[in-house]
Amino acid sequence: MKVIVIGAGISGLTSAIYARRAGCETLVLEKALGPGGLSTSWSRKGYTFEGGIHWLIGAIPSIPLHSVWLETGALQENNPVYFKDPIYTLVDGNQRIPLHRDFHGLPVKGLRDTLALLSLRFHVWCFRYFHQPITDLRGLKVREPRPFSVWEYVRMLPAVLITPFLLVQSSRFYAKRFASKQIRGLLAAVVNPRNNALSMIYTLSTFAAGDSGYPEGGSIRMAGNMADRLLSLGGEIRYRTPALGVEKSSEGWTVRTEGESVQADAVIISVDARTAIDKLFPEPLQDRWARKMRASLETTQCMFLALGIKTALAEWPRSMQVVLRRPLEAAGFKYETLVVNKYPSEEGFAPAGCCVLTCLLHGNSYGYWKKAKASGTYVQEKKAIVEQLIEVLGEVIPEIRGNVAVTDMATPLTYERYCSTFEGSYMTNWPAGKTVCHAPIRYRRGLYFTGQRTLYSGGLPPAAQSGRIVAQTLCKDFGLVF
Ligand SMILES: Cc1cc2nc3c(=O)[nH]c(=O)nc-3n(C[C@H](O)[C@H](O)[C@H](O)COP(=O)(O)OP(=O)(O)OC[C@H]3O[C@@H](n4cnc5c(N)ncnc54)[C@H](O)[C@@H]3O)c2cc1C
Repeated sequence: MKVIVIGAGISGLTSAIYARRAGCETLVLEKALGPGGLSTSWSRKGYTFEGGIHWLIGAIPSIPLHSVWLETGALQENNPVYFKDPIYTLVDGNQRIPLHRDFHGLPVKGLRDTLALLSLRFHVWCFRYFHQPITDLRGLKVREPRPFSVWEYVRMLPAVLITPFLLVQSSRFYAKRFASKQIRGLLAAVVNPRNNALSMIYTLSTFAAGDSGYPEGGSIRMAGNMADRLLSLGGEIRYRTPALGVEKSSEGWTVRTEGESVQADAVIISVDARTAIDKLFPEPLQDRWARKMRASLETTQCMFLALGIKTALAEWPRSMQVVLRRPLEAAGFKYETLVVNKYPSEEGFAPAGCCVLTCLLHGNSYGYWKKAKASGTYVQEKKAIVEQLIEVLGEVIPEIRGNVAVTDMATPLTYERYCSTFEGSYMTNWPAGKTVCHAPIRYRRGLYFTGQRTLYSGGLPPAAQSGRIVAQTLCKDFGLVF
């Protein structure tokens, strides 16, 4: 039984590892130079820029997803997880206000804030047992079955009951129940403020439960661990090998690459499904879900900026929500606050005595950058934004000035180029009040989708979970033992 997995991101690697464990001959085709996809880090002149994981859900054993991270080799002895607390610290002039995992120390003043904090605590409490269940498909032969537990689902009931209320409002709207601008700012830093409030409350509940940490070595080590696990099991990965097309053939499926056509019994597509439906088949897919996806999909885009700093910034918090004195203007957006993460030299991110600062700017700027590319101003505009960032951030963190050793910036066009995500989206999202359109995990016997767009909401958990489900679906279709 031969399986081809297209894409060596987290979902592709997860599915490949489980397929290989089930005895399939497994070949992963990846267009990039290495594993990880969107979950990646890269180096410039001795500085490493973490361009993926900010926190990993399932980092503690009590969360079922943890077993997937262990089985796929994502978490090992070489990447122990660091659990930050506070999650963020608001830097507003001379004030430093931490957002702790248990919310202690928030500047709550007056009845409105007191009530708002009470309800926030209650909502987070409702989600304390909420998690993505890791189960087995019905009728599947499994070596190590996961017993179904009704109790596991009963405990999620409080979360399920308040979910409709959280789905219809954005995180930004939810935060407005606080009178304190500073608390609003801190909450806005947790997830993309456009996302529904469910993603924010769920994320906060994972922090409150002691989960959501940062694995040492970051995205690149974790993805490398998974790639190594697949190779050690006897799987194969071909980098710099974009899949150009997938077709049904008499013996199964054919995947076309530059100069070669590879046959397989089954193909798993982990490329962003929105891209795949138009680009990977002889004709764009016209199934109902595909048409709905084309018509209704809202992408989530960001700009990512990174600075290598020639000083340690030791007295500055590790994760900050910085209130700027002047807004940063980038790609038609005005940012009055910035979420800034600091990566120290002790963890290998920078030469001794130095550090890295990264900053993720939410907002859909794909169209803007497309125009800049067409008019030939793309590179200059990126440069100007980085210079502006150094200026406005330097007004709050003066040590930055004159100490920037190296810079980098990714736009949606970067994500589109490297990972082929639709309009350069950096993860799937679930906007407030909207229904979302999934791609089916089983398109037909022998052809499957995983990763972006198959399970919601976004990030690494659905990538891993869909990778496991897809492998189970394949095993069931072909009578293999999972
Ligand atoms: C800046 C940033 C911060 C993030 N922070 C977090 C976080 O803190 N926590 C979290 O959970 N998630 C985070 N995410 C999101 C998370 O990284 C993604 O949701 C996840 O990695 C998606 O995995 P995937 O396998 O579904 O897709 P991808 O990573 O997109 O994998 C698809 C793979 O397919 C390859 N590919 C595409 N087309 C082809 C082709 N034709 N042939 C061969 N290969 C192809 C791509 O190169 C890629 O490797 C972040 C992402 C970014 C960019």
